[in-house]
Amino acid sequence: MNLVELQAHIQAVDTLDRPDPGYFLKLVEEVGELSEAIRAEKVGQPTLSELKGSIAEELVDVLYYVAALANLYQIDLTTTFELKEQLNKIKYQR
Ligand SMILES: [Mg+2]
Repeated sequence: MNLVELQAHIQAVDTLDRPDPGYFLKLVEEVGELSEAIRAEKVGQPTLSELKGSIAEELVDVLYYVAALANLYQIDLTTTFELKEQLNKIKYQR
């Protein structure tokens, strides 16, 4: 699944129709859970039974709410990433 497909999937299954702090607050919550997983060093690619509380799970949770916020504010993450990379190329002299 690429970013376009990810955003479309989330748009189909989980959509708010107005700006709402819920997605942002969930993103912050998931960043906290990611911090806990990193501190616990739950590293590597987990199996389904190992997924709960792993760094991998929390990274996906963060990605989910980033994509949900992008949908809410009608932002195409792929296009924006490409634009940002152009700025980074200049900023970091890549
Ligand atoms: Mg989580």
